[in-house]
Amino acid sequence: MAELPHKGEQTFRGIPVSAGVCRGKIVVLDHSRPSIGSRQLTDTELDEEVNRLEKSLVQTRHQILDVQRRVSQAMGAAEGSIFDAHLLVLEDRTLLDEVVRVIREKKVNAEYAFHSVAERYAASLAAIEDDYLRERATDMRDVTTRVLNNLLGLEHETDLRNLKEPCIIISRDLTPSNTAQLDKRMVLGFATDVGSKTSHTAIIARSLRIPAVVGLGNACARLESGQYALLDGFNGIIIVNPTDQTLWEYGQLIRKQVTLQEKLRDILFKPAVTLDGHHVFLSANIESSAGTEAVKANGAEGVGLFRTEYLFLNRDQLPTEEQQYAAYSEAARELKPMPVVIRTLDLGGDKLLAHLPLPRELNPFLGWRAIRFCLEERDLFREQLRAILRASAEGNVKMMYPMISGLDELSKANALVDEYKEELRKENVPFNEQLEIGAMIETPSAVIIAESLAKRLKFFSIGTNDLIQYSLAVDRMNEKIAHLYEPTHPAIVRLIKATVDAAHRHQVWVSVCGEMASDPVLAPLLLGLGVDELSVSPPLVPPVKFLIRRLKLSEAKALADFALECESAGEILARCQELARQSAPSLFEDK
Ligand code: PEP
Ligand code: MG
Repeated sequence: MAELPHKGEQTFRGIPVSAGVCRGKIVVLDHSRPSIGSRQLTDTELDEEVNRLEKSLVQTRHQILDVQRRVSQAMGAAEGSIFDAHLLVLEDRTLLDEVVRVIREKKVNAEYAFHSVAERYAASLAAIEDDYLRERATDMRDVTTRVLNNLLGLEHETDLRNLKEPCIIISRDLTPSNTAQLDKRMVLGFATDVGSKTSHTAIIARSLRIPAVVGLGNACARLESGQYALLDGFNGIIIVNPTDQTLWEYGQLIRKQVTLQEKLRDILFKPAVTLDGHHVFLSANIESSAGTEAVKANGAEGVGLFRTEYLFLNRDQLPTEEQQYAAYSEAARELKPMPVVIRTLDLGGDKLLAHLPLPRELNPFLGWRAIRFCLEERDLFREQLRAILRASAEGNVKMMYPMISGLDELSKANALVDEYKEELRKENVPFNEQLEIGAMIETPSAVIIAESLAKRLKFFSIGTNDLIQYSLAVDRMNEKIAHLYEPTHPAIVRLIKATVDAAHRHQVWVSVCGEMASDPVLAPLLLGLGVDELSVSPPLVPPVKFLIRRLKLSEAKALADFALECESAGEILARCQELARQSAPSLFEDK
C-alpha cells in the first residue's frame, strides 16, 4: 500500500523483521527466470536426458551443502539448518519421479519437465493460506532455480555478488540462500514484497543484523533501480525520495540508536542487579559450541539453554558420541566456571531431520517428539547422554529434559542416566557424579505436577514458547492465529506463578528460556513472579540487562500482583509496557 504524504515522497508499509535504519540507492532485482523452452526428444535420447537430470540434482546438492557449510560457519548451525528444507526438496521422490515420468512419457527435455512439475507444486503450496507452507514454496523455487541453472549451465545469483556500490535491495522475494550470501558491505538493507516474521529469510536478516522489511505487497513493481530511499526496519517502512524533514526525523532516530548502543556497551560487563539490589541471573540460549563467543561478548553469565538438536539437523548423518562430546565439552571449557545447561534432544514439531525422516503426523507438535522420541530411540539417546555425562567432567555442565509431560518420562530418563553412569564408571571414564538434572516446564501437565517434579529435580526451565502454545491451544507457527498467542494471558501468568511457587517450596531454581524472557517489556513480569534466571538470545542480553538495572524488584512484584488479579491479557500487557517504558525509555525510542 503506498501513500503520497509529500510531493515526491512515497511511503511503502510492510512487516518489520530486522531492526535498524539505512538509506541509499535502491536496486530492484529482476528475478525473472531463464526462459525454459520445450524440446522434443527421440526415444534414444531419453535415458541420457534422465541422466542429465540426475547429474544436475547431485550438482545442486553439493552447492546447497556448500552454502550450508559456509552459512553455519559464519552464522551458526541454526541458520545453516535452514538449508535442510532445500535438501529435502532434492530428496522428494514424488516430485522427482514425476519429472522423470514427464521426460519419458512426453519425451521432453529435463529443464522443461523439471520446471513445469516443480512450478505446479510450488504454485499449489503458495496458494495455501498458511505462512509455513508458503515458505516451503519459496524453498522449492530456490531449489528449482538452482537445478535449472545447472541444467542450462548458468551461474547462480550472479546479480547479488556483482553489486558495485552500497545499496538497498528491493525484490519480490529473497530466498534464504540469496540472503545468506549478502555482502554486508554492499547491502545496506533489503525489502521484499512477500514474506513473514517467521520466514527463514527474516531469521537470517536478524542474525546478520541487516535492516529488513518484508510483506510490502507490490513495491517491487512500483520502484526503480537508482531511486533514493530510506528503510526503517524498526517499523517496517520504506520511504522513497524522503523529504529533508523526513531525513531530519530519521537522523534523530539514528542518533538515539547510537546513544542507546553506547549505553548498552557501558553496562555490558556489569551485573544484572535491580535498583533495590536484587541480582537476576541472566544467561543466554545457544545452538552450537560456536555460540559461546556471543555469550561472552554480550556479557551473559552462562548458558541457560543449549539447543542440541541443531547439532543433529545440520548434517548428513547422526553425530556420534565423540562428535557430541567434542561440542558439549568445548562449550563447557570455553565458559568454565559459568554454567552450561545442555538440553537433551528436542527433535520433532518443526525440527525435522533430513536423514532421519520421522513418520508424517497430523499434529507434529503433539506427536512423537523430544523426550518421547528419545525414550524409544535408545541408541541415539544413549550416545547423547554419555556425551553429556563425559562433558560434565570438563566444566560446569547441567542437563535438562525437554517436553516432560509426566513423572513416568522423568523416571525412565533418570534410570537411563543411572545406567550410563554405571557404564562410564566401569570404563573409568570421568564425569561429574553430582551432575544437576532439571526439566523444561512447557506443558500444562508439567505445571500441574510441578510439586512432584520439584521433589526429583534440581532446577526448572520454563519454555514459554511451547507452554503458551499448549496452554492456549494456539499453534506457535501459525500467523493466522498469531493474535491469540498472548504471553500475558492471565492463564499463562498463573501457570508461571504456580511453577515458581512449587519449585521454591523445594528449593528448586527456576529459569525462563522461552522468547518471553528476551522481551524487555515482559521480563519484569517474570521477575515479579519470582523467576530466578532469564535465559535470552545473546544479542538481547544487553537490553534486558539495561532494563533490569533500571528497575526495582518491588515494582516488578507490584506488576505481578496486579497481573495475578487481572482478567485481561490486554490490560496486563499495557501495565508491562508502562513499567518498561517508565524504567528505560531509551529502549523504546524507535517507534
Ligand atoms: C520453549 O518452548 O520455550 C523453548 C525454549 O524451547 P524451543 O523454543 O526450542 O521449543
Ligand atoms: Mg520448547
